[in-house]
Amino acid sequence: MPKSTRYLFVMGGVLSGLGKGIAVSSIARVLQGMGYRASAMKIDPYVNVDAGTMNPTEHGEVFVTKDGLETDQDIGNYERFLQIELSRDSYMTTGQVYLSVIRRERNLEYRGKTVRPVPDIPNEVIRRIKRAAQVTRAELMIIEIGGTVGEYENLLFLEAARMMHLQDPTAVQFLLVSYLPIPSKLGEMKTKPTQHAVRALNAAGIHPDFVLCRAERPIDQPRRERISVFCNVHPDDVVSAPDVTSVYEVPLNFERQGLGQKILNKFLLAPRRRDLRAWRALLQRVGRFRRGVRIGMVGKYFSTGAFTLSDSYLSVIESIKHAAWAIGVRPEISWLDAESFERNRRNLKLLERYDGLIVPGGFGARGVEGKISAIEYARRHHLPYFGLCYGLQLAVVEFARHVLKLKRAHTTEIDPRTPHPVIDMLAEQRAKLKARDFGGTMRLGEYRCRLVPGSLAYQSYGQPQVFERHRHRYEVTNRYRAALERAGLQASGVNPDRNLVEVMELKQHPFFLGVQFHPEFKSYPLAPHPLFKRFVQAAIHRQRS
Ligand code: GLN
Repeated sequence: MPKSTRYLFVMGGVLSGLGKGIAVSSIARVLQGMGYRASAMKIDPYVNVDAGTMNPTEHGEVFVTKDGLETDQDIGNYERFLQIELSRDSYMTTGQVYLSVIRRERNLEYRGKTVRPVPDIPNEVIRRIKRAAQVTRAELMIIEIGGTVGEYENLLFLEAARMMHLQDPTAVQFLLVSYLPIPSKLGEMKTKPTQHAVRALNAAGIHPDFVLCRAERPIDQPRRERISVFCNVHPDDVVSAPDVTSVYEVPLNFERQGLGQKILNKFLLAPRRRDLRAWRALLQRVGRFRRGVRIGMVGKYFSTGAFTLSDSYLSVIESIKHAAWAIGVRPEISWLDAESFERNRRNLKLLERYDGLIVPGGFGARGVEGKISAIEYARRHHLPYFGLCYGLQLAVVEFARHVLKLKRAHTTEIDPRTPHPVIDMLAEQRAKLKARDFGGTMRLGEYRCRLVPGSLAYQSYGQPQVFERHRHRYEVTNRYRAALERAGLQASGVNPDRNLVEVMELKQHPFFLGVQFHPEFKSYPLAPHPLFKRFVQAAIHRQRS
């Protein structure tokens, strides 16, 4: 164990959306493969305290940590690549930083001093970085600074990075993720924007140790030299990062260029081992699968603005991939617009083409009736169905309406006056909403769930008790539970501490299962989630028969 943690700051230049999160995850994965305890953390420059209040079409998926912080999808990437679970300490926003400094000022903790943006804000940032390193016991901590250099909003974070370097230059390195465009009229890769980005970084008092060149193609020798000369980095430290088909290839690409070794060298550390074997073997296998499995995802967060549906449901998509790969099939995921089933019920016929159907988490009324119709189709046609959170709640609504014949049964989220509130708000949530206390107040994070022996859920997990992450305000109403169960919808997973339904499943069906939690937050390329695996198996089974 090195005496103290080493820190690598990763920032972006030229433009956003370069896959900085994947770069950070991949660097950490490579270093982990070299025998070091590597961890990653994210700094988001927005003023929101967490990502929970943001629309997924604007900021992508909201990822929930084990201890219940609503973060952005990069934390999910770090967890998936490193196969670890992070806590709220690994995520910080401008809002959080200011909130703690202001709180401390109000508590007189600055003892009458003037509290200034510099150095008090960077000092709080540094305190948080060090705490995250401590909590994760990281030997190597990779810190992703959101946004691009030169923007006003991440200046104080760059300032913190610079100050950490000043305190101990041997323990801090910087890596700039840049972009090299190839204008179609020229057909030639251009380095000038990267030169400007490095200048902007220099202006913040930071000199990059590495420049990572995102581009459509690998960087060639002349351009590598140009970046080296103009940006003042060694040509060997100009790293090529061309587009790839799967994000999981990125660590292998970095390993081929010896990036992990180069980072360790600069920290005067020696590799302890070299082991990306299982990872490489998985990727080799993945390229060879011939049979596909067709999974339909019914959603409403369709492409708007900068984000697409795949960003809104990133963890679900990755979980399907992990499960399919473990089984040896190629995942073919399609987006089905819930509202299209409302416009025309004949569109439901299209569901025939799929081997399995997922209704993922969601909020609000738009598309709800369409989702319910799709669930009804899956139930009646023995199409494997997997409901995640809202997908469980709407399956219960569907079942109550069409099997129990409870007319206008609904969730009170959509119809507060329904005669049959089969899904209703958790008791403690009412007071919170009344006080307009919305931020970070859902039932969040990990809770335990006890599984009923013999159930599909129990069989899939192969254990009587599991811990899964939550993000919801509504819940199955216990007073309907007996009736639902009598008609065949079994509550096969329950939180024993509060007697809350966590899993429901249909007995006379190959796979019809809904979960109140989000299993997609605990799936890894080399360790798929057992429920996703079972679901994909059921989908394959249907395809064969
Ligand atoms: N809107 C539902 C609730 O608040 C479901 C939430 C979700 O799917 N994450 O309970």
